Amino acid sequence: MAKKEGLGEVSENSRFEKVFSDSGSVDSFRNAVITWFKEEGRDYPWRNTTDPYAILVSELMLQQTRIATVLERDYFGRWMRRFPDVHALATAKEEEILKAWEGLGYYNRARNLQKAAQKVVEKGKGDFPDSIEEMESLPGVGRYTAGAVFSFAYDRRAPIVDGNIIRVFARLFGYEEPVDLPVAGKLMWKWADLLTPEAHVRAYNSGIMELGQRLCVRGTPDCSACPVQEFCQAHSRGITEQLPRKKGKAKVTHKQESVGLFIKNGEILLEEESGTRRKGLWKLPVVTKSESEDWEELFRLPYAITRYRVEMTVFRAPPNSREREGYTKWYPLSGGESLPPLGSPYRKAILKYLDIRDDLMMNR
Ligand code: SF4
Repeated sequence: MAKKEGLGEVSENSRFEKVFSDSGSVDSFRNAVITWFKEEGRDYPWRNTTDPYAILVSELMLQQTRIATVLERDYFGRWMRRFPDVHALATAKEEEILKAWEGLGYYNRARNLQKAAQKVVEKGKGDFPDSIEEMESLPGVGRYTAGAVFSFAYDRRAPIVDGNIIRVFARLFGYEEPVDLPVAGKLMWKWADLLTPEAHVRAYNSGIMELGQRLCVRGTPDCSACPVQEFCQAHSRGITEQLPRKKGKAKVTHKQESVGLFIKNGEILLEEESGTRRKGLWKLPVVTKSESEDWEELFRLPYAITRYRVEMTVFRAPPNSREREGYTKWYPLSGGESLPPLGSPYRKAILKYLDIRDDLMMNR
């Protein structure tokens, strides 16, 4: 067993050495990434700060949400205006936090952000940790996020590996094994460690990630514009589109969901979500097939959550329907602030209903 591991390590070392035969080539690679980033890097709002709190906010927002989505609706700017520092966030009410996060999904990220802020206030009196290990001990902060905050805020050496970097490395090293296996994960972190420079870490880490976001994209990468093309194994072997490989995706499950719009005297009935992950969020009341049998179907709205593809059917419920089970409450019907924090599909359904209603009123 020991012999086998040793051989594996030798072959992985030679894979690295095949691309980077000496320290000069490693330096050239780093410089190419840093120079490209300084000339071509995008100017995101979280790049104009070295405040670790602001960088942590952006990193948690971007964990499962696209940059374009965070920018389009100014989630980052609105959050920073509402909770400008760890003290403001640490003492905020959960409902306010979930409302500010509304639309980004995966609400545990918002809850963890508050827990992290509380820990920073309690332990560091508002100062963020000064070591990677302590940074990683904050709620919701894993190895990648700790390295990202450390390098972007302090410009100190910390390797990072995210989905974009995995794609770049798989192609750079011509790695043909599945990248979603633990052995590949270990290797990617090792390569990141070997390539991360001592200086200009902020620019290098931002550059290697952005290269994956903009040039070394899924499908067909834009190799002609790539600053590290001369090092790339996949490019020289003509297999860029075949990499990275994955073992297999989780099976998608299709589900149906029926919800009711209970509207009375300008108010809408909402139901509180159950379960710890969605605690504090609200939704449209779920209705059974038999009770909605004779109700008017207003529209259908598909949405995806983790491995589920859900088709939600929205019914107009009779205003005097019986009281619902579970915790329900009437709220003034509007598109925004009068409503409690809502799961994204339900907020979209209410907005869609308001659009339809407004159209009907205008055409009368
Ligand atoms: Fe990715 Fe092409 Fe650059 Fe290789 S040369 S790292 S495949 S963009």
